[in-house]
Amino acid sequence: MTPVPETQTSEIKTIEPMLPAVYRIKRVQQDTHDTFTMELEPSKRNGGFSFAPGQFNMLYVFGVGEVPISISGDPANKQTIVHTTRAVGAVTKAMRKLKRGDTLGMRGPFGSSWPVGEAAGSDVVILTGGIGLAPLRPAIYHVLANREKYGKVVLLYGTRTPADMLYRRELEQWRSRFDIEVQITVDRAMNGWHGNVGVVTTLIHRAHFDPHNAVAMVCGPEIMMRFAIIELHKRGLTDERIFVSMERNMKCGIGFCGHCQYGPTFICKDGPVYPYSSIKDIFTKREI
Ligand SMILES: Cc1cc2nc3c(=O)[nH]c(=O)nc-3n(C[C@H](O)[C@H](O)[C@H](O)COP(=O)(O)OP(=O)(O)OC[C@H]3O[C@@H](n4cnc5c(N)ncnc54)[C@H](O)[C@@H]3O)c2cc1C
Repeated sequence: MTPVPETQTSEIKTIEPMLPAVYRIKRVQQDTHDTFTMELEPSKRNGGFSFAPGQFNMLYVFGVGEVPISISGDPANKQTIVHTTRAVGAVTKAMRKLKRGDTLGMRGPFGSSWPVGEAAGSDVVILTGGIGLAPLRPAIYHVLANREKYGKVVLLYGTRTPADMLYRRELEQWRSRFDIEVQITVDRAMNGWHGNVGVVTTLIHRAHFDPHNAVAMVCGPEIMMRFAIIELHKRGLTDERIFVSMERNMKCGIGFCGHCQYGPTFICKDGPVYPYSSIKDIFTKREI
């Protein structure tokens, strides 16, 4: 794939969605031993970058390859594009080596979004494990910026160990607010950890929300999402009010190649965020 010079991007984006535009890296921050957050600078000519919470971009490391990564920044900030990535394989490990001032190819934003609009008037339960907090962080920013539109807001977050926790400073800030309940847990405690120990789904039964008027947004490892759904059902949430993110391998990001087709749905285009009611039959399947 050949990168497109930044001067051509706005015209080409509409005609050729497979061509990445070139973005300069403004900042890279190491969050945990394997996870980093990268800020990209959007082209000033286009008035910044807009996206909906839950959407993703296709990020292209030149000469290595392209991967889907959720946007993890504030949707109200159009001047910075933020992604939080775990280095797991060829492309993401090459991406981790990039520094401030280097360039990266990007296409997007793509995909469906968390139902932050539809959830107005309801309690909001954000349930997340590990790097699953990254795709949900834009929804948290949006809900907190429009706090008066929602009922109770609950964030339940679990990681394997305290060292795997993302966005520590922000978590502390959110915890100190009186208008959001933040509960954090780790699977394995270490020295100095005085918080909850146990998987994140054990927090659901004691969280404060009205199950008959709540919307749950769930993102994390698949096993965690499966147990989360069981626990949310026990509290009385219906399938229509539970939203999950289906992150499956994908290639084009725009529903052309069929790589992520699951029966009638293309995860890159119709997902990754779905109401559980619409995908419960395929949710646990890796391939169809
Ligand atoms: C819509 C969407 C949003 C995503 N958002 C993020 C994000 O915000 N941050 C982030 O770190 N990752 C995210 N991912 C996962 C990310 O795309 C993969 O980790 C990446 O493609 C791995 O590429 P690689 O070349 O580095 O590793 P590879 O060499 O391709 O794979 C290394 C290992 O990772 C596994 N893997 C590959 N792709 C995926 C995948 N899609 N999901 C889970 N495991 C995978 C492989 O099975 C293998 O075990 C997202 C995926 C999707 C589909």
